[in-house]
Amino acid sequence: MTGADVAGVVVVGGGQAGFSVASTLRACGYDAPVTVLAAEPHPPYQRPPLSKKAHTGPVRVELVPESFYRDRDIDLRLGDGAVALDPAARTALTRSGTRVRYDHLVLATGARNRPLSVPGSHLPGVHALRSLDDALTIGRALTTARDVVVVGGGFIGLELARVALAGGARVTVLELAGRLLGRAVSAELEPILRQRHERAGVRILTGTAVRSLEGQGRIERVVTEHGALPADLVVYGIGAVPRDELARQAGLAVRDGVLVDERLRSVTDPHVSAVGDCARHPHPRADGPVRLESVQNAVDQGTLVARRIAGSAAPYENLPWFWSDQGDVKLQIAGLRRSQDEVRVVPGDTAERLAAYAFRDGRLVAVETLNWPAEHLAARRTLQRGTPVSTADLAGTTLNALLRAGRTPEVRR
Ligand SMILES: Cc1cc2nc3c(=O)[nH]c(=O)nc-3n(C[C@H](O)[C@H](O)[C@H](O)COP(=O)(O)OP(=O)(O)OC[C@H]3O[C@@H](n4cnc5c(N)ncnc54)[C@H](O)[C@@H]3O)c2cc1C
Repeated sequence: MTGADVAGVVVVGGGQAGFSVASTLRACGYDAPVTVLAAEPHPPYQRPPLSKKAHTGPVRVELVPESFYRDRDIDLRLGDGAVALDPAARTALTRSGTRVRYDHLVLATGARNRPLSVPGSHLPGVHALRSLDDALTIGRALTTARDVVVVGGGFIGLELARVALAGGARVTVLELAGRLLGRAVSAELEPILRQRHERAGVRILTGTAVRSLEGQGRIERVVTEHGALPADLVVYGIGAVPRDELARQAGLAVRDGVLVDERLRSVTDPHVSAVGDCARHPHPRADGPVRLESVQNAVDQGTLVARRIAGSAAPYENLPWFWSDQGDVKLQIAGLRRSQDEVRVVPGDTAERLAAYAFRDGRLVAVETLNWPAEHLAARRTLQRGTPVSTADLAGTTLNALLRAGRTPEVRR
């Protein structure tokens, strides 16, 4: 073990949020050391493209060229993640045995896939997708797979189902719950989305639990409570759990994510922040502290923490938004909907377009759209500004039309 060196900001995690912290610090003129401890061997990259197509060869998903880090004096230590923290001494211990000192530590460790705990889940031909290396493994398997079973009808499962279908495989999605996408999309939109996937050729079995995965030496079938399905490839996406173990072991407050305040500082240690998938933060649009898994959240939280370290005092209030490309379906969500909100589904100007407006106490709080990027952008503009839009304002019209006609209440004033 070597003695502690460096100080300034140490970021643990070289993903979307960690990159956002390091790059924004330099963009803000922060001139103390910036060190990124990254567990993966790859420089920071985007994960969304990994599930939108089959990858078999070199994948260009890195966020910036490696020269970016050199030019900005960002010390990116690939393959040398943190294995322990010592908050009292303000040091992080890395896998290689180096102790790194910090003035401020930012945890940006992301999430890991929830494991599929059934017999046979370790058979060859059974995969989950999180990293670039996973994407290459699945992409290669897809080139020969004929019967693909996707376990989990969430965003990543549905995206992969459509990728497999486009590659010519027979595809079945198994979902334990009675509907797709859990509570992530409204109950009103879910049947429409399901119908589009079924129309394209995906077989969807909801309310179906996987009992075991079976095969001689590799996957051959998936056994469910309703019978067995042939499978030469199984991919599962049944949710993610935050990588908060470093924080927990270091005695920081953790509850399904590192607990942070409205400025994303650990609630127990002012020298530590957490951002992205691993952070649970109070958000003015949510009921209680939330943990969000999206690019928007990772980028915006990283930016906020970097600006805070560089002197800004703003709390984190950015509008959550999200997208998922599932074959010919582009799903986009702006705002945070709660289960008791009133949802109104409105057809768009073409058969493929659709919007679901969610109202709370008669006021618009979230918008889900299918294949309608312009309405999604209008929703983001309206909700981020806090422009009040009532059920009556949106009767028989769209947000875009309201904005264009200058008929939103804000514009009317
Ligand atoms: C396949 C896939 C598709 C997605 N598609 C979309 C999409 O379409 N739209 C969208 O908005 N979001 C999407 N997401 C979610 C989005 O990518 C994440 O929310 C975002 O990457 C979170 O950023 P992060 O930095 O918090 O975590 P990550 O990007 O996961 O980065 C965390 C990094 O920290 C590293 N790490 C963990 N522990 C340590 C340690 N102890 N020391 C050092 N490093 C460590 C991890 O190895 C990882 O590299 C997708 C995610 C996946 C997996």
